[in-house]
Amino acid sequence: MRKGLRLGVDLGGTSVKLALVDERGRLHDKVAVDTVKQPRALVKRLSEAVRPWSNRSLLGTGVGVAGDVDSQKGVVRFSANLGWRRVSLAALFRKFKFPAPIVLDNDANAAAWGGYHLELGARPKSLITLTLGTGVGGGLVLNGQVYRGVTGSAGEIGHLVVQEGGDPCACGNRGCLESYLGASAMVRWARAAYAKKKQVVEPLDPKILEQRALRRDPVAQEAYARAARALGTALTSLVNLLNPDTILLTGGVARGAGLFLPQAMGILKSGAFKTPARAVRVVVARGKSDLGVAGAGLLVI
Ligand SMILES: [Zn+2]
Repeated sequence: MRKGLRLGVDLGGTSVKLALVDERGRLHDKVAVDTVKQPRALVKRLSEAVRPWSNRSLLGTGVGVAGDVDSQKGVVRFSANLGWRRVSLAALFRKFKFPAPIVLDNDANAAAWGGYHLELGARPKSLITLTLGTGVGGGLVLNGQVYRGVTGSAGEIGHLVVQEGGDPCACGNRGCLESYLGASAMVRWARAAYAKKKQVVEPLDPKILEQRALRRDPVAQEAYARAARALGTALTSLVNLLNPDTILLTGGVARGAGLFLPQAMGILKSGAFKTPARAVRVVVARGKSDLGVAGAGLLVI
């Protein structure tokens, strides 16, 4: 990793984070702007946001995008969050004179790469990152490199099937991890469970569900227990499949890890092969939500 600052861009469905990132993943300055869905208008807005940094000498621009990304061609094939199909995003960044080279990747891969450097000092050889937010994102760093698979979609851990024929998922399948552990799935399940008990709990959002679980509300506790069982099942498969050094949990739901991680770890320890289960460290990210933008910047090697 070359010494110096690069521009990191974490492009999400509601906001875009931009930061100057050094070779160790530390942020030196940052700014956030609201997302606009029209690609050209968005990149123009971003170019205005980084104008105060125009006199800095930067090594390049790394962009993490929520969606299916062709990082070779610099194209976003599809993004449900942004409503994009076949957007030549790297070319747009070039047009607006962002520092070259411009490197594009999926945002979960960028977060895994950021976690590898920032949270763990690039020490472990293999790291799995799970981003627990509205849904569940995943990223793999294997033997010190982001593993993208043949078409770039590797690491979709949120869509590991943990329950055959289980709850429907936004991807069209059933029983995905995201259908139990994602914030929106947890809230949806809890709302239905309260309705069944003729209990009115409104408003209900992920934060309120977490607070209710902490106060031992049975429905909220069961929402977390379902999430814990799903996570434990997924971790068991991940550990048996990849034998990683570290599994890093990040995102808003991960901050409430005390409500589900102990149970999930119990399932992992009893279900996975003993040696890899003993070797793996499962940790919650210390930083708030900077892994994505830090990792995006670090895509510029
Ligand atoms: Zn799915």
